[in-house]
Amino acid sequence: MNNQFKKVFGIDLGTTYSGIAYIDEHGKPVIVPNAENQRLTPSVVFFDGDNIIVGEVAKENAKLYPNEVVTLVKRSMGEPNFLFEYQEKNYRPEEISGYILRKLVNDAKQHLGEEITDVVITCPAYFGINEREATRLAGEIAGLQVRQILNEPTAAAIAYGTVENDNEKVVLVYDLGGGTFDITMIHVKPDAIEVICTGGDKELGGKDWDDRIIQHLVEQFQAQTGSQEDILDDHDTLQELQLSAEKAKKTLSQREKAPIIVTHSGERAKIELTRDKFDEITQDLLERTMSLTQDMLAEAQKKGYNSFDEFLLVGGSTRMPQIMARVEQAFPTVKPKIFDPDEAVAKGAALYGWKLSINDELVRRVTERTGKLEKDKIEIPEEIAQSVAADTGFTLEAVKSANMAIRNVTSKSFGVVALNQDKKKEVVNLILKNTTVPAEVTERFGTELANQDTVEIRIMENEVSDNKLEPEQAIEIGTASLELPSLLPANSPIDISFRLNEEGRLEMTAVEITDDRKISVSIETSSVIQGEELEEAKARNQNLVIS
Ligand code: AMP
Repeated sequence: MNNQFKKVFGIDLGTTYSGIAYIDEHGKPVIVPNAENQRLTPSVVFFDGDNIIVGEVAKENAKLYPNEVVTLVKRSMGEPNFLFEYQEKNYRPEEISGYILRKLVNDAKQHLGEEITDVVITCPAYFGINEREATRLAGEIAGLQVRQILNEPTAAAIAYGTVENDNEKVVLVYDLGGGTFDITMIHVKPDAIEVICTGGDKELGGKDWDDRIIQHLVEQFQAQTGSQEDILDDHDTLQELQLSAEKAKKTLSQREKAPIIVTHSGERAKIELTRDKFDEITQDLLERTMSLTQDMLAEAQKKGYNSFDEFLLVGGSTRMPQIMARVEQAFPTVKPKIFDPDEAVAKGAALYGWKLSINDELVRRVTERTGKLEKDKIEIPEEIAQSVAADTGFTLEAVKSANMAIRNVTSKSFGVVALNQDKKKEVVNLILKNTTVPAEVTERFGTELANQDTVEIRIMENEVSDNKLEPEQAIEIGTASLELPSLLPANSPIDISFRLNEEGRLEMTAVEITDDRKISVSIETSSVIQGEELEEAKARNQNLVIS
C-alpha cells in the first residue's frame, strides 16, 4: 500500500456504547470487535488503581465501586464544570473519553495486527463548538490524528446511502441513542450526500426511558413494602436499579411483560412491568422526539423541502416498538425502516474517512497531471482511478465509488453582541443554523462612541433561527478585542466576518475600515481542556494501562 495513503478508522464515540470500523478492499465497512469479542464496547470507564478499565468489565464494576466508575461522560463533553475526582486527581470529560478511544483503538490494533493513527470521530449533530472541540481533544489525548469530527446522522446516512445508492431520495434520520436524540433530513444523490436540516436534544435518550422505569420501580417498591424511604439515596440500590431498568426495557422490546425484583435493606418487591405501562410512563419522552421532528420539518420547508421519501431509525433505542408505531402513525405514507441501529454510525464514519483519503489521493494525482489545483468533485480519468486502486489495494469499483461530495449544515447559529437603536444589548446572528457549511458572512457594524480605543467583540452561539435575539438566549464562545486608531467618530464602520468550516470550527475577522486595522481569531473555547492540562492528560494517557 502506498505510504501516502493512510487507512482511516471510523469511531462512534457513543453515550452508552462505542464502536470502531474500517473499510475492506471492496469498499465495505467492517466493525472490529474488542478484546472481549464484542462488536460494541460500553462507554464506561473504571478507575482501578493504576489501571483504567473500559467496557463490559467496567460496567459490571459500576455496582461494586460506584465512585470509581464513570458512565455517560458524553453528556458532559464541553462542560467546564465537570470534573471526576480519583485519588486526588481531577479528570475532565475529554480525558475520560480519551480512555474509551484508546480502548477501542488498542483492541482493534491487536485484532488487525496493524497501527491505527488516523480516525474520524462522530458526535451528535447539535453538538456546539465546545462539545466538538472536546471530542477532537479526546482523540488527541488518545494519541490519534483526528481527520474530522462528523455528525452522527450524516454518518448513518452515508452508511445507508452507500448500501442503497441506486436512486435519489430524501431521507429522514431519526437517531435515538443512549443519551441523545438527533433528527436530520438528508438528500441522498448518486454522487453526493447533502444534509438539509438538523435538530434534536442532547439530553434525551434511552437513559431517560430507563429513568422512568426506575421511578416506577421506586413507587412500586414503596407500595408493596409500605416503606417511605427514598431508596435511590442508596448508591448500590440505584446502580442495581439502573441495570435492571435497562434490562427490563430491552425485554419489553421483545415481549409484552418484564419481571423485575427490587431488593433494598433486606426488603424485596416483585414487580411486573407491562409494555402498556412502560409506554404510558414514557409517552411524553416519545412525544418530545416527535415535536422536535415537526420543528425540523418546518425548517426544512423553508428550504423548499416539503416531503421526504424514507424514514430511517438508527440508534439502539429505536428498537423500542413504541418508536416505530408512533412514527407510522405520524407519517402513514412512509414505512419507517430500522437500519443497522448499533453500527451504522461507526460504519458511516469509516466510509467517510475512507472517501476523504481516497478522494484526496485521486484529486492529488489529477492535479499533478493537469498542473491545475483541482478541488472537491472532479472527473477522474480511468487510468488515475486504476493507479490509485493498484497502489492502495482497493478494487477499482471501490475507488470510483469514493468520489462523492458530502455537504453538511451547521446545527447552531453564530452571532455577535451589539447595541440596538435603544442602546440595548442584543445578539445579531451572522450565520443561522441549518446553513450549508462552509459558510462565510460579513456584516457591517459601527463603533458606539467617538474616540473609542477598542471594540470588544463577543462571539455567541445559539439555537435561534432569527437574525436578532436576547443575549440570554445565547452562550459566549469567544471574545476578541480590536484596537482602534485615535479620534474616530462614533459609528465608524467595523466589518465582522464569520467563517465556519465543514466541521463546525469558527473563525472571526474584524476590520476597522478607516485605518484598515484587522484582528482574526479562531475560536478556542475556554470550556475545554487546554495548555499544560492538555499536555499532562496526553502524557497520562500514553502511560496508563488501558484494558
Ligand atoms: P446507542 O447510543 O445508539 O448505542 O444506543 C444505546 C441505547 O439503546 C441504550 O440506551 C440502550 O439501552 C438502548 N437499547 C439497546 N438495545 C435496545 C433494545 N433491544 N430495546 C430498547 N433499547 C435498547
